[in-house]
Amino acid sequence: MTVTLDLSRRPATNGATSTGPERPALVGLSRTELAQALTQAGVAEKQSRMRATQLWHWLYVRGAADFASMHNISKDLRGLLAENFTIARPQITAEQVSGDGTRKWLMQFPARGAGKPVEVETVYIPEEGRGTLCVSSQVGCTLTCSFCHTGTQKLVRNLTAEEILAQLLVARDRLGDFPDADTPAGAIVPSEGRKVSNIVMMGMGEPLYNFDAVKNALLIAADGDGLSLSKRRITLSTSGVVPFIGRTGSEIGCMLAISLHAVNDELRDELVPINKKYPLTDLMQACRDYPGLSNARRITFEYVMLKGVNDSLADAKELVRLLKGIPAKINLIPFNPWPGSAYQCSDWETIEKFADFINDNGYASPIRTPRGRDILAACGQLKSESQRLKKTERLALEAMMIAGHGE
Ligand code: SAH
Ligand code: SF4
Repeated sequence: MTVTLDLSRRPATNGATSTGPERPALVGLSRTELAQALTQAGVAEKQSRMRATQLWHWLYVRGAADFASMHNISKDLRGLLAENFTIARPQITAEQVSGDGTRKWLMQFPARGAGKPVEVETVYIPEEGRGTLCVSSQVGCTLTCSFCHTGTQKLVRNLTAEEILAQLLVARDRLGDFPDADTPAGAIVPSEGRKVSNIVMMGMGEPLYNFDAVKNALLIAADGDGLSLSKRRITLSTSGVVPFIGRTGSEIGCMLAISLHAVNDELRDELVPINKKYPLTDLMQACRDYPGLSNARRITFEYVMLKGVNDSLADAKELVRLLKGIPAKINLIPFNPWPGSAYQCSDWETIEKFADFINDNGYASPIRTPRGRDILAACGQLKSESQRLKKTERLALEAMMIAGHGE
């Protein structure tokens, strides 16, 4: 069963669609920046820090999307805030719910100089004991991995820290994952605890080519007085931007996933062309040096199974050799074909043999089961003036997001 809601003509969550001239957003600012913004708007300097702490609680613990709900803040100050800033959610242009509980939202963000408004998609995958949100970092991608549909699109623009966080806030709104909020009837969510318990930066874009915004957003997501997601439940996936791998560990402190996909430079140059710039030896060294790496905090290596390309037992052997000494998990991802792609998915038997070999050599190697297939096939008939994803682009992106979820 697939349920599709076209929300494009309805107001955004909490009726908080922003109208009029664009006011600066408060979501995505650090505490210090938030206090500075308040001072600039006319809040007395010695009060700004206290007000910033109050706002932080409203934004990230209570999930407020308008100033009017902030009842412990004086009416005058609420008025001042509303005149100067926005905390409105983006417009949700569609929401789809799959029979297995997978949900996806299309959100629209302003152009910010890139021509037209942009559309971003976020996918939620509930499982026993956890709910994973797959978040995008860019619209499009500058890299050109040959098996990835996003790689055929130009980069439209980087997402801001606000837009990265908005994906999490919208998901929590829609799932009733803030205090005193109701979960939609019949929703499939983890039986206890938070509805969104994990984030994977595995949507569109290369997060390490948008490092500052991704870092600011993830530090806010992990802040113990706010959204409070454990850094062990936040995973950033990179195609291998070596200079930023160490900084991901030391400055963000989240879990790392590497889109490996090939075990020798010749093939990886073709599949993941950033390999020409940062070849396997450098990538593996950056992994060995990843701050905080231990058996309890392993690196996930993603490996897409391409028929006749990278799926032989010799590849599996080389994979085990390559990862020797690195605390690692291996995610085998069945290739999701898209129109015009030059590859096919490996046969199931081949994938199982590959997985068995890796398991026998001591690595957990779950094969990602397809999720939300029914919403992959569904196509929102939306009309808007935004930089729209074409249907094929959206399907390939969703397939990728869903394939890459989990540990
Ligand atoms: N740009 C980052 C984040 C994307 S993560 C990165 O490349 O790591 C999504 C994962 O899905 C990546 O491992 C990506 O290589 C993989 N992927 C991309 N296209 C795919 C496809 N058609 N089938 C299966 N996996 C795919
Ligand atoms: Fe970009 Fe990742 Fe796709 Fe490569 S796999 S093109 S880095 S989104």
